Amino acid sequence: MKDKIVLITGSGRGIGKAIALRFGQLGAKVIVNDINPDTAEAASTEIKKAGGEAINIVADVSNKLAVQTMHYEIIEKFGRVDVLINNAGVEPTGSILTMDEWAWDRTLNVNLKGAFLCSQTVGRAMKEQGGGVIVNISSIAGRAAGLRDRAAYVASKTGLVGFTRECAREFAAYNIRVNAVCPGVIITEMTSHLRQNETQMKKWMEDIPQARLGEPDDVTGLVIFLCSDESKYITGQAFNVDGGKVMS
Ligand code: NAD
Repeated sequence: MKDKIVLITGSGRGIGKAIALRFGQLGAKVIVNDINPDTAEAASTEIKKAGGEAINIVADVSNKLAVQTMHYEIIEKFGRVDVLINNAGVEPTGSILTMDEWAWDRTLNVNLKGAFLCSQTVGRAMKEQGGGVIVNISSIAGRAAGLRDRAAYVASKTGLVGFTRECAREFAAYNIRVNAVCPGVIITEMTSHLRQNETQMKKWMEDIPQARLGEPDDVTGLVIFLCSDESKYITGQAFNVDGGKVMS
């Protein structure tokens, strides 16, 4: 990963931040993107304090102009993007019968359209430069498992697995590999409210053979592998990182 130019969306905190820190440790030049300027700045500072190289760019991945401006800034500074991690995500809860239309749109716009906009914008440059790697952070909710009271989230993450496959098919001709990583329940802000629910926690633990929730660091190894040449014949796939979770 030494000197690779790596853009990780939504990496001000949580899983994205863990991935960004790991790339920083491995000598990559890391672009921390987030919609939150404070966390974006703090994460890039942390990477630099640990001896890595990083910049932060505040942008809403669901906004085409913002994505294009972010990309322009990266090209101005580094000249290329070798790795794109589409990680930014939101997860509103609620039943379909009561869900607000805004929540549906926002979820699909950030989780799915955001990955499309970033893949299109960065993909064009990767094609010109002769190749690259994209990893989409989906979820086990986007596979057979699903997730109660998260219809928009499940739809977005299921869509992201399908988008991964089609993106891989189209981009293979340009030497760009595209895969999806599907975490189980990981301890981050996104799951903090759920982890306070004892009944929910007990149920989850029964379903996880390894009998623990995941840490953000549990996700980074697979992401790094999928971005390295060790996985050069792997594209269009989705992989679970979930402690062996089975859904009941
Ligand atoms: P998190 O809420 O801690 O972090 C998400 C980050 O994305 C935040 O920093 C947030 O500010 C940023 N973000 C939100 N909207 C954005 C936008 N429009 N543009 C740019 N940045 C934006 O969540 P997390 O748990 O770290 O999740 C990271 C990814 O992993 C998400 O895509 C999530 O769906 C996925 N995931 C999480 C879990 C889990 O259990 N935590 C499980 C499966 C998948």
